[in-house]
Amino acid sequence: MANFNKKLIEWYSDNKRALPWKKNLDPYQIWLSEIILQQTRVEQGLPYYLKFISQYPTIIDFANADIADILKLWEGLGYYSRARNMHITAQNIRDNFDGKFPKSYNELKILKGIGDYTAAAIASFAFGLPNAVVDGNVFRFLARYFGIAIPIDTTIGKKYFQEKAQLLINTKKPGEHNQAMMDFGALICTPKKPKCKDCPFVSECVAYHSNTIEQMPVKSKKLIKKERHLHFFVLIENSKIIIQQRTKNDIWKLLYDFPCMETENNLLGNEYLEMFSNKIKMPQPIIFKQVLTHQKINAYFYKLNSLKSFKDEVNGFQIDLTEIKNYAFPKIILDYLKSEELYLS
Ligand code: SF4
Repeated sequence: MANFNKKLIEWYSDNKRALPWKKNLDPYQIWLSEIILQQTRVEQGLPYYLKFISQYPTIIDFANADIADILKLWEGLGYYSRARNMHITAQNIRDNFDGKFPKSYNELKILKGIGDYTAAAIASFAFGLPNAVVDGNVFRFLARYFGIAIPIDTTIGKKYFQEKAQLLINTKKPGEHNQAMMDFGALICTPKKPKCKDCPFVSECVAYHSNTIEQMPVKSKKLIKKERHLHFFVLIENSKIIIQQRTKNDIWKLLYDFPCMETENNLLGNEYLEMFSNKIKMPQPIIFKQVLTHQKINAYFYKLNSLKSFKDEVNGFQIDLTEIKNYAFPKIILDYLKSEELYLS
């Protein structure tokens, strides 16, 4: 183990990624960076991190902010429940922890949106506690290095890998060790074409010697993505447009879109006729697609040049196009608005 840690730290000191949140020990900034980087590439997340730090320099600033402003700043990053949970946690810390993050792994894990990984990251990076982080990069590196074929998406697998990582942790430099493990997986032991020729662990890597690199890490089930068909009615007249806020417990909660109908396939069923005035002629839709972790979204946009196309009052409200930039939209809606030159910034 000492040999493993020595090689790891030597590699890290020569190859570490210079990222702004690594420079400080502020748990707020570490938390912010870790939540932003979940499901998000570093290159995409970095500008968001910088925007948030500039707009909300402290957790109190974040807690006191309006959720609509936070979602607006988060716009385009996806997985908006992260932002909503962060706001709840920031307010919890402001109101119940004297504005300071709790300093133990177990207390951190009680906070909304903070699981094993984020708790270990804050505990080790900010407070120097010996809690091992296990993200996708660490799973992959450990699975290959030790030749572990236990599926990583099972309870047993998660527990096994967490314990394995915990046994390896360098208790003198836990934060640096965790950063090194993640950077190693991200830069050398990559998902495709790992750089085994540059790897200091190649002589003892089980997957390398058993020719099983591509099979590692093992997953028990292939994720089946649900395909959804969302039909959006874009009611527009002169410079006015109707938008609505999504309030159900579904994707994009609290963000804005247009009056919408969901169907089983790409066709609008006859039920839509019930909603519109008889004179309406439905145009061909403009189609956008987006793949999320658990869902494939097909969005069909029907532009109707009248605010009164619906028979009844629509569930939404009217704004001027010049105000559109004040609202947070999901990426697929933004893409549509921009393609139609309706997003006036
Ligand atoms: Fe990963 Fe290759 Fe190194 Fe094994 S030898 S740990 S597969 S980079």
